[in-house]
Amino acid sequence: MTLADYHRLLPLQYGKMPLFVKAGARGYPDPRYELLARALEPFGERVVDLNPGVGLASAGLLEHSRVDLLETSRACLRCLERSFAHHPGARVRRGLPWEAEAEAYDQAVLVLPAERGSRYVELALWGAAHSLRPGGRLWIAGDTKRGFETYFKQAKQRLGYGLIRHRQGSLRVAVLEKENPTPPVGAPWESFAAEIWGHPLRFRHLPGVFSAGHLDPASQLLLHTLHEDGRAGDVKGCTVLDLGGGYAGLSLPFAAAGASVSVAEDDWGSVLSAQASFRANGLEGRVFHSDVEEALPAADRFDIIISNPPFHLGGEVILDVAQAFVQAARSRLRSGGRFYLVANSFLKYEPLLEAAFGNLSTLRREGYKVLRSEA
Ligand code: SAH
Repeated sequence: MTLADYHRLLPLQYGKMPLFVKAGARGYPDPRYELLARALEPFGERVVDLNPGVGLASAGLLEHSRVDLLETSRACLRCLERSFAHHPGARVRRGLPWEAEAEAYDQAVLVLPAERGSRYVELALWGAAHSLRPGGRLWIAGDTKRGFETYFKQAKQRLGYGLIRHRQGSLRVAVLEKENPTPPVGAPWESFAAEIWGHPLRFRHLPGVFSAGHLDPASQLLLHTLHEDGRAGDVKGCTVLDLGGGYAGLSLPFAAAGASVSVAEDDWGSVLSAQASFRANGLEGRVFHSDVEEALPAADRFDIIISNPPFHLGGEVILDVAQAFVQAARSRLRSGGRFYLVANSFLKYEPLLEAAFGNLSTLRREGYKVLRSEA
């Protein structure tokens, strides 16, 4: 798969409307979304979908209602914008699931974002309750193997009456009615401190981001390796790009060491977190809400590219995204530049790096491996 293939939006004939999907975009194929699409019933004028992915669950409601789609992933937003650009009833917005308008909707739709952890789901459920008018309905879909029962109970405590509408294997769809008012929720921001390369740093993040509350051990190994190899001192004045930058766990030390840092990140909550991390340390960093490299200025090239690439997407291992990361690194390095990648030892990145760069060094192998290629 080439980078151009990765970025292509593909039409999927789903119901009456073509929906666009792409590699790396959540929500298709995904049986939770399909079950929810079959279960949803029209009710009232206004619907909000708080975890639409590519839009498969709530698209069918557009025949009867106006639907606002609130999404965090840049890859998904690209699909949604293409699918619904000409639909007068659909409004696609970038935002977190707890940022919908208050008491504005007759129905809220939420595939439980269980892979993001319980605090994020809790906030999403709060957001759903908050967005509904009294008497409004919340539809949730989830998996009993991923906490559905607990989240359903939480949702009932918050809203009021609820019942299970569909069962398929371990998947469930439930509908609830808002009987209770929604009290305000505490501020979602979290932070922690760590000393890296001799710099005391503070990391700030929203719930649900990668490696919340502590630096990921693989990212730590990459930072440690560069330090031991005497490379950390060389980064001053360099341009550095972190592909899949999260809350800037990997890139903040580079900024502290005097590099000019850019971050590309698909998840809006992570983008806000990276911006907050740079600010909290009085450091500069350019943060792009980007599906791999697509939102970077076309001419931008870098001296160093670093990445701890994602390999989970809704629980699936997806090498497509990793491959796109490697190819993007190749195309965005200036000649003589270096690409550092850290990954779980069992992931087969070596052939991808070999194919893209024609050279490869394994710098460390300690549960994780640190790989380097040169442009
Ligand atoms: N560099 C950070 C985060 C690494 S995890 C750290 O070391 O702490 C990988 C990151 O890639 C996640 O934040 C995830 O949201 C992001 N990601 C996943 N798919 C992406 C895509 N298509 N484009 C850009 N970033 C993506």
